[in-house]
Amino acid sequence: MKLARVQPILLASPPPHEESRATIAPCFAVLEGETAFEIDGPFAGQRKRTGRSWPLAEVRLVAPVVPTKVVCQGRNYREHAAELNNPVPKEPLIFLKPPSSVIGPDEPILLPQISKRVDFEGEIAAVIGRTCSRLAEDEAIAPFLLGYTCLNDVTARDLQKADGRFTRAKGFDTFCPLGPVIETEFDLAGATVATFVNGERRQFGRTSEMIFSVDAIIRWVSRIMTLEPGDVVATGTPAGVGPLEPGDVVEVAVSGIGTLRNPVAARED
Ligand code: ZN
Repeated sequence: MKLARVQPILLASPPPHEESRATIAPCFAVLEGETAFEIDGPFAGQRKRTGRSWPLAEVRLVAPVVPTKVVCQGRNYREHAAELNNPVPKEPLIFLKPPSSVIGPDEPILLPQISKRVDFEGEIAAVIGRTCSRLAEDEAIAPFLLGYTCLNDVTARDLQKADGRFTRAKGFDTFCPLGPVIETEFDLAGATVATFVNGERRQFGRTSEMIFSVDAIIRWVSRIMTLEPGDVVATGTPAGVGPLEPGDVVEVAVSGIGTLRNPVAARED
């Protein structure tokens, strides 16, 4: 099942100077074929259809969840650790991106002028469906998962190096594109992630190349911080990271989920 948050747009009689105008607040929906069916919520015990629906052409997809936190992995693919001359970690190396960095599909990534090198990092992200805390070593994570989506862990590489910390480099507004949908029946085992810039493939990875499995990461994180419904746990980026320039279009494509597409623009600081 593909879950999304949609914002219906008014297509008939747009006001002067506007092609379309959002008229209804974003709501959760199940996507089936070319139709978005509104549901009361995406989590367990919800997903009751409200009766409202729209053709996909008449909605805008926004970020599929509103997380309380986005937990990311550094260096979870061997080749990516090597390309930045970093050792392979012995334990998951985690950091947070602020919820304020999250944007949805087609929203522009804004490059702050203080950075001269902002990179894309295409990733597969797990979305939490049920509160989980202090999971046991062998506990199954499936009951706690809502599904998976695509994430772009946009990073100001020069600031990351200068700071020796990740918070500023990865925390700018718009640095966490998320979506377009959450696939609840995602088959992680054979999945691939690829990143394209202006249509050219720049990154490719398979989940089998991950150093720490998604299960291991979520159990490990849950023993540090409680994961809430809607929280996002990104799984690291494969090799091939590279810079973004104003005017670029960057796409993160995960097999079985879809493609997260965002334009890139300079930020007017
Ligand atoms: Zn990353």
